[in-house]
Parts: sequence; structure tokens; C-alpha cells
Amino acid sequence: MIARQLANIQSQLPPQVTLVAVSKFHPADAIREAYGAGQRIFAESRPQELAGKVQALADLDGLQWHFIGHLQTNKLKLVLPYVSLVQSVDSRHLLDAIEKWAAAASREVSVLLEMHVALEESQQGFYEEEILDILLQAVGDGAWPHIRFCGLMGMATNTDDKEQIVADFTRVRACMEQMRDIFPELEDFKTLSIGMSSDYPLAVECGSTMVRIGSAIFGERR
Ligand SMILES: *Cc1c(COP(=O)(O)O)cnc(C)c1O
Repeated sequence: MIARQLANIQSQLPPQVTLVAVSKFHPADAIREAYGAGQRIFAESRPQELAGKVQALADLDGLQWHFIGHLQTNKLKLVLPYVSLVQSVDSRHLLDAIEKWAAAASREVSVLLEMHVALEESQQGFYEEEILDILLQAVGDGAWPHIRFCGLMGMATNTDDKEQIVADFTRVRACMEQMRDIFPELEDFKTLSIGMSSDYPLAVECGSTMVRIGSAIFGERR
């Protein structure tokens, strides 16, 4: 079942779009099944759950983890040693804490900045002008030298209104392109992580390079 869903989704994705399988709330065995079908990148949203699965699946070669949830600074050590990308950086406070951890560990941490585009006020993330400020500081002042800024992550408004979803995704993409124009020296700033189970075809039309898909692969979360 999982293998079939993965193949079905992969067949709809252009080659430049990376599929991240969102395995939160699903057991390690489900991840094993997806791994057996060739999937290598998985994402979790809770530090404790990630750390547990990392341990349970330590025998799988080439498995990569992304973090996509709200990350509290007192949980960094459960997450940063294990992930190749933190997709959900949503505050300067978190950037500062990641920098401190990475400097102490002599590591570089790759991140996406989460952008607030949805109509829901409760959504996490930065507005355009905050993203510009952060990158100005990163490039101009060499702030956060142990952080690699790899692009943007965004979530569209939770709605059936396709025009709204396209408008939200288009804003993330426009911000991405603007930042790439302003900061050509940020060579790694190229990942546009937009698209989930319900809206990934629209995200791909809007220029997504990375989709984060959970329930369409693993079924409904318990
Ligand atoms: C849970 C989650 C997803 C996956 O959602 P589905 O609707 O199950 O595909 C993607 N991105 C983020 C940030 C999430 O928290």
C-alpha cells in the first residue's frame, strides 16, 4: 500500500522536485516499508518522536531526516545531531540557538526559513521583510556563520479554495526569487518547500522543488 502510494506520487512529480515523506505519528515499521520501496528522506515534527525513530531505524543505510515542526530551543540536542535539514526555522531566537549549538559542535546546520503566507494568524513563520532582514544580516554582517540558508518553506491557507492556495504559494515563490536576485552569493538558497498531501499538484505548478507529503503516503494519522 505504502509502496503503491509512493510510486503514484513520484510519477506525478517532475525530476527537480524532491519528495519528503512525512512520517510523524506513524510507526517505525511504516518507515521501513517506505524505505524498502526506495524512499530515503523522511520528516518528523516532534523532537522526542524523531529521536526515538532515529534509534529504532539506525540499521537503515542512507536514511535522511528533516525536521518540520515548531522547534523549541531546549530541544535542539534531540534534533540537530540527526537531521540534514531543519525546514521550520520560524524565529531569530531559534536561529541564534542553532548557531550556538552548531558552533559548539563544529557543525554546519542547513535550514529553510518558514514563511508566513496563510490567512490563519496562528501560522508560524516570518514575513517577507523579516526574511530580507535576516539574509541581509547573514550576508552583510556574517551573522550565524554555522547556518547554511537553503531556501524557504511555506504552508498554504487550509482551504478548498484553489485560488487562495495558488496565491499563497505564489507569494513564497516570489519571495524566493527576490531573495535570489538580491543575494546571488547565497548559492544554496534554492529550495522551495511547498506542497502537502492536499495541495502538492498546485505547489508543483507554482514552482515547488520539495514537497512534504504524509497522509497521501501513510494514510490518516492516528
Ligand atoms: C504534517 C505536515 C505535513 C504533511 O501533511 P499531510 O497533509 O499529511 O501531507 C507537511 N508539512 C508540515 C509542516 C507538516 O506539519
